[in-house]
Amino acid sequence: MRLVMKFGGTSVNGGERIQNVADLVIGYAQQGHTIIVVTSAMSGVTDTLIRAARRAAQGDPSAFLIAHETLTAQHFAVLDYIVRDETMRRVTHAHITRLLDDFGNLCRSIHVLGELTPRALDQVASLGERLILPILAQAFRERGIAVEVIEAHELILTDDNFTQASPLMDETRNRARARLMPLLQQGILPITTGFIGATRAGVITTLGRGGSDYTATILGNVLDADEVWIWTDVDGVMTADPRIVPEAQTLAEISYGEAAELSYFGAKVIHPKTISPVAERDIPIRILNTFNPTHPGTRIVRNARANGRTVKAITVIRNLGQITVEGRGMQGVPGVAARVFSAVARAAINVLMISQASSEQSICFVVENAHAARAIEVLEKEFELDRLRGNIDRIWAQDRIAIIAVVGEGMKGTPGIAAKVFGALGDRGINVISIAQGSSEYNLSLVVDERDADSALRAIHARFIT
Ligand code: ADP
Ligand code: ASP
Ligand code: MG
Repeated sequence: MRLVMKFGGTSVNGGERIQNVADLVIGYAQQGHTIIVVTSAMSGVTDTLIRAARRAAQGDPSAFLIAHETLTAQHFAVLDYIVRDETMRRVTHAHITRLLDDFGNLCRSIHVLGELTPRALDQVASLGERLILPILAQAFRERGIAVEVIEAHELILTDDNFTQASPLMDETRNRARARLMPLLQQGILPITTGFIGATRAGVITTLGRGGSDYTATILGNVLDADEVWIWTDVDGVMTADPRIVPEAQTLAEISYGEAAELSYFGAKVIHPKTISPVAERDIPIRILNTFNPTHPGTRIVRNARANGRTVKAITVIRNLGQITVEGRGMQGVPGVAARVFSAVARAAINVLMISQASSEQSICFVVENAHAARAIEVLEKEFELDRLRGNIDRIWAQDRIAIIAVVGEGMKGTPGIAAKVFGALGDRGINVISIAQGSSEYNLSLVVDERDADSALRAIHARFIT
């Protein structure tokens, strides 16, 4: 089979783990599979880079100096652990030093300008993957494997929507195939960075935080892979985040639709955009655990076998705010909802969930906390006259809320799910602020106070997953 294998941050976090990755890949190659490796940055590195750049823009020059030191020590330690060959060690040291010098220079410019543009942010953020790539390559070379090191901006062309770039699939297909197919034919193992792309002009972009998963499926699509394997630190997609619900169980198989819904509603194990490139071509994804590689993990396919449960998983998204537009005069006035959402869309604010009480006296919707103040501002402006006329009484935000999403294809047409969810929460005295059901019926979402999120998740999980 032709397989794209992506390794997440924890899987490459240290010398021993990197060797484990190399051994895993080589084991599958020896079984006759053709493999393309995609790597994330070591865990925490992207956060460190971004934090340092932000601090530099705020006028703090020490943060990037400290980050520079930490990142140098971290990467050199791993390199020294892995590379025995003196010449290769020197060459790789020099490469890493150059990348870290770039980091220092970029942060110095950001500091001088006092401004961090999305374009500069992507330059900085992309360094995490680029730093680990040559080290991972050495782990393969030390084992006698011929590898080609390719930074993904050579492969993935994107638009110039910095920090959230989208791939230009046709051009990416041409580029990636021209670069990778000859290598695969010669039995050379290509290893590349996740998360990164480039504009047509060659400027580095990133695909959004956690975007290495997306890189893997983009490459899976353009290379006609048989499967995409995402190696992480848990045994697949589980019925809930195992960090919050220790008794969460692995889902053996889920559909593309369910996976998309789960990732969109907070299951960090897959980046929300990951599904579409492979769903388009019916390429299965597997989610596997590098720390437990014999576990079968989760398969994500078009039509998943039913597992006998209506609710498959429960997720949570935090750091949200709920905006409410309310007024007795709204009743029967046409177009209020359209005006609310047009105003918010014009301000480029993403709406995660909408609910309207049947009395039509209020419209509620959920946005990221960081966008709440701006949403209020644009709505106050939009409804200025209506406020004066008394049609709209109040526009307000409730911050520190979370969305809990209950997801499963089997929920479609099954009565009593909502009652069971409310029962579970009622028994624990957890207040539900609002509720919405997606039109797909795969998903029932409810808003709770952020402080109740963990107990709400556990309560619903205990009720449905036994
Ligand atoms: P990687 O670095 O491999 O990309 P991430 O940290 O991005 O890994 O994603 C893996 C993490 O996702 C897990 O450690 C787990 O805590 C979290 N997670 C959240 N929801 C789920 C879920 N439903 N199933 C599995 N893991 C989940
Ligand atoms: N390193 C990037 C991030 O932390 C991409 C990824 O890990 O998938 O967001
Ligand atoms: Mg991830």
